[in-house]
Amino acid sequence: MKLAKLALIGFPYDENSSYLRGAAQAPPVIRQAFRCESANLWSETGVDFGASALHDAGDVTMQTGAAALTQIETAVADLLAQGYNPISLGGDHAVTYPILKAFARQYPRLSILHFDAHPDIYDEFQGNRFSHACPFARIMEEGLVERLVQVGIRTATRHQREQVERFGVEMIEIKDWRDDWPLDFDTPVYISFDLDGLDPAFAPGVAHREPGGLSTRQAINAIQSLSVPIVGADLVEFNPPQDVGGLTAMVCAKLLKEIAAKMLVNEWQ
Ligand code: MN
Ligand code: MN
Repeated sequence: MKLAKLALIGFPYDENSSYLRGAAQAPPVIRQAFRCESANLWSETGVDFGASALHDAGDVTMQTGAAALTQIETAVADLLAQGYNPISLGGDHAVTYPILKAFARQYPRLSILHFDAHPDIYDEFQGNRFSHACPFARIMEEGLVERLVQVGIRTATRHQREQVERFGVEMIEIKDWRDDWPLDFDTPVYISFDLDGLDPAFAPGVAHREPGGLSTRQAINAIQSLSVPIVGADLVEFNPPQDVGGLTAMVCAKLLKEIAAKMLVNEWQ
């Protein structure tokens, strides 16, 4: 059995958030919840992250503007060059475009499984092409991945539907979701997980609370159902100042544990 080398990296960065800042505070809060003594470090699937190596590359000291996006791309490229499969702790969703630029060089065949309330595929938002509402427009127009499959979507506008059509995105709207939905891929997969894909009852610590979302259980089941190598992931849009009693922090820690466990066995099943 081939085991992946996993690395955590934090991007305390929310410059491209359109409504509320605060996602920059997430990385240390997620780490703390991951190590919280209220839970053990075993995944549901039998991986012990107390014993297994989960290299922590720390948080990047972020600059601003274009320099920040370059920092993110470079940090991820460096980890990939060292043979790590990175799990990025955001930050707002703007981090995913530079992350995928680095991944596309390493993985010429790659698909994204994207959990979100929002398609994040505006051509521009409030005059900003690098807004957290735009990363998947940039990723698709540059052809960085073969497929983009979106789950949990419940806010698509006419413009975003046109963008989805234009780029051939597979947008599974939550109104159509069924728990046995087959998430079949024939390439390695990158998971981009925006916490607002979950219902705010489960994950209130987000800037854009959109009712009617996935349960934590539905999201974990979908992830555990994948049967292809998961080569990278990000957890984004957790906004600690909006959290209630540390609830969303623990959801992030749980998702981190289950995604990392899935990534560890890095072979086709
Ligand atoms: Mn998003
Ligand atoms: Mn969102």
